Amino acid sequence: MNLLLKNIYWASDGKNITTDIRISRGVISEIGTLSSLKREKTIDFKNHFLYPGLINSHDHLEMNLYPLMGNPFYNNYTEWAQDIYKPTESPVKEIEGTGIKDRLIWGGIKNLISGVTTVVHHNPWNRHLSKKKFPVKVKETAWAHSLVFEKNIQKKIPKKSLPFVIHAAEGLDDFAQHEILKLNGLGLLRANTVLIHAVALNEENKKLIEQTEASVIWCPSSNLFMFGKTAPVDEIKIKTKVALGTDSTMTGSPTLLDEMRVARNTNLATPKEIYEMVTSIPAKIFGLERPEIKIGNRADFWISPIIHEDYLENIFKIDSSKIRAVFVNGKFRFGDADLATDIGADGYQLSWASKWIAYDIFSLKKRIESKTKDACNQNPLWKMFFGE
Ligand SMILES: [Zn+2]
Repeated sequence: MNLLLKNIYWASDGKNITTDIRISRGVISEIGTLSSLKREKTIDFKNHFLYPGLINSHDHLEMNLYPLMGNPFYNNYTEWAQDIYKPTESPVKEIEGTGIKDRLIWGGIKNLISGVTTVVHHNPWNRHLSKKKFPVKVKETAWAHSLVFEKNIQKKIPKKSLPFVIHAAEGLDDFAQHEILKLNGLGLLRANTVLIHAVALNEENKKLIEQTEASVIWCPSSNLFMFGKTAPVDEIKIKTKVALGTDSTMTGSPTLLDEMRVARNTNLATPKEIYEMVTSIPAKIFGLERPEIKIGNRADFWISPIIHEDYLENIFKIDSSKIRAVFVNGKFRFGDADLATDIGADGYQLSWASKWIAYDIFSLKKRIESKTKDACNQNPLWKMFFGE
């Protein structure tokens, strides 16, 4: 289906642009003053900003039915893991008893509703993640959980320069700090290494990361929840590639838009830098198409009403309930119910904020509830979708 977006605004290289955009066969095919073609849906987006789809650089997709877990603060991630992993107790018992496919789709939906069109998944690969209909695109990488929780780390090392993702220096104590040295000693600190968290960094650690050109994924809400402190992003961002990730709802923000606000409130990065951390920087780290409104690019984008006249500032004023539309590969997947009607998209109307989604969220809810009863009720996304 061709789609023509009329009178939409966006900014590129500091310039504001208002124009029309044609979407055909899943890509942005034309930009300029355009008139409708036969059999083309035309929608006027006056007073709306168009943004390229965001990249969430760290999530465990199947872990997003959880509420925040634990009784912080902790000294490092092993203390947290011991505290929360009680497989015979609620809510772990119930949530782990649900189907993996449903949990993964829920994680995909979490990302979709905040303008994310690509997510980097940290956990075993599952064939459902590469399906065309999965809510967002999922980037597969080589990965290990962490130095402590990985039995045979050498086996997980990729042969070529594929990104290799690992939780590291997640904590405040000497143990967490020592992980960077240990990784380096194992020859695992390299230009393709992607360190998740990197909270406990001394001067030597920062230098090692800089010299090896490893990247860092910043998850401020998770760090602040577990440790009351986050990575020294103000210092490391100067010479190291830093991107932003939510982590799962066990410790992190409900959505990437929330995470961007948390990042901003730390004052460790500017709005522009935070925007780059969810677009151009992760594209570089993970070898993805740079998110841009450009002819020939995949039609992965989202549309928001203009609440603040500044293009970047507006993102920090938006939450999922205000997003007008999210498109993946040119397909409308989440947004306002009236827009779904105008476009003629098949899907499901939600009671939350007059929204619409392309996925059968009600059957998903039923299947999950048959295993969990009320164990998901404290999950922030569950509350948002199904709360009173
Ligand atoms: Zn994680």
